[in-house]
Amino acid sequence: FITGRKKATEVAHSVWKNIIQKGDTVIDATCGNGYDTLALLTLVADESGRGCVYGMDIQQEALDNTSALLEISAEENKRKVVKLLKLCHSKMEDIVQNGNSVRLVVFNLGYLPGGDKAILTMPGTTLAALQAAGRVLVSGGLISVMVYVGHPGGRDELESIQGFASGLPVESWASFKLEMLNRPTGPVLILIFKK
Ligand code: SAM
Repeated sequence: FITGRKKATEVAHSVWKNIIQKGDTVIDATCGNGYDTLALLTLVADESGRGCVYGMDIQQEALDNTSALLEISAEENKRKVVKLLKLCHSKMEDIVQNGNSVRLVVFNLGYLPGGDKAILTMPGTTLAALQAAGRVLVSGGLISVMVYVGHPGGRDELESIQGFASGLPVESWASFKLEMLNRPTGPVLILIFKK
């Protein structure tokens, strides 16, 4: 699936396509400018309005940007499946009460492109959010984490995520790491499948 694709985010989207079915419930744990939310909406929403994308971010600016992108890029009946929330992703269980009901949880870490670079994901809350994601995920579901190592603290965040993903019991989880060999500071994609 990588052939012909250039960007790590496109690789991630290709993997999601193989996991998500129409009508699924999914979570975008870091909405940012909304490109991942839009991709998720396209994969989940069907004509009858089924499906649900919970999109969360701690910054109102990110939620506004996501909302604006959806408005110009998605049909109104499909847009309705997206619920945007100003919330730290470590609190995702506050909105998804039913454990084992979510097919995909997506993280695209770091700071808001075009926004305040001082507001960014932190290893502590990221780890708490990964644990929460593991609890809400359905069997056969996926946690997809895009990690950026080019900014201060990025490598530490990658290491804590790798520690988390490596320590998961192999009977219930399969975790993978995808990195660019010809761009060492490029984003790293961690994929964590729930068996
Ligand atoms: N997925 C986005 C897109 O397609 O444009 C890009 C996401 S951006 C790289 C990272 C986002 O994570 C920022 O908007 C930032 O505000 C958000 N963020 C940082 N800490 C967070 C937290 N604890 N909970 C939820 N979002 C957080």
